[in-house]
Amino acid sequence: MRIAAFLWPALIAVSACAPLAPLPGEGIRKVPSPNFDARRANMVILHHTSDSTVDEALATLTDPERKVSTHYLIGRDGEIVQLVEENDRAWHAGKSWWGGNADINSASIGIELDNDGDEPFPDAQIHALLGLLADIRQRHGIPRANVVGHADVAPGRKVDPSAWFPWRRLAEHGFGLWCDEPWPPAPEGFDLPLALTALGYSPLTPEASQRAFLLHYAVGNEMLPVDAQRALAFCLLNQRAVNGSTTGMPAPANGDSPENGSAISPASPAIAPSTPGFAP
Ligand SMILES: [Zn+2]
Repeated sequence: MRIAAFLWPALIAVSACAPLAPLPGEGIRKVPSPNFDARRANMVILHHTSDSTVDEALATLTDPERKVSTHYLIGRDGEIVQLVEENDRAWHAGKSWWGGNADINSASIGIELDNDGDEPFPDAQIHALLGLLADIRQRHGIPRANVVGHADVAPGRKVDPSAWFPWRRLAEHGFGLWCDEPWPPAPEGFDLPLALTALGYSPLTPEASQRAFLLHYAVGNEMLPVDAQRALAFCLLNQRAVNGSTTGMPAPANGDSPENGSAISPASPAIAPSTPGFAP
């Protein structure tokens, strides 16, 4: 096609003004450093499979069409099956939110417990889970407050693990937060929705977040009076402030140091809990 000569100046002007799409990496000087390693998870998300057998769950979790997976699956008899390496991103949390993080799959290790959602978790299964959590804590230094359930990070969409799940027993071993009754009253003006957001729950779905909070910390008691809910949230926030960041992880030996900001800061043993609950 011939272009009239009088149009050339206009075309040249247009192309001169059009922004050029930068090529990936263009304009960035690369200076490789040897000082790095694989990214590590900073949360553990616990699930129940809603299945009746490990084989049923494995069929789902390995089906390319279903596009769901998990790092670990624990059977009712305590058998542990690993499906995805810990430093890879398993697809277990889906659309989720916790503490401002909207990509929980990238931040977490997923553990599925074979359970249909309407039955107690056998002792052998919880025993295996506690051992696995202790191993994961050694490897990743995950803070105790960052061991939560799928329902916590996907309120209104998920309810696993169910009200049968022994959160209190986990907390006794340093995984997750827990406060036993009686809870001291929260201070005047203590705001429950704000407190739930501070604990990590999504502020975008306040009612569902409140139900997830009760499912986890009040064994599913949705009739708990609001003042008691405020007291419970206040106690949990206090506990997290005192020992929620304790990891039980030994000092890293891979060159991490306080100077580079990557060492784990243990909670001060000099601070005593001001509210009832578990000792660290
Ligand atoms: Zn789940």
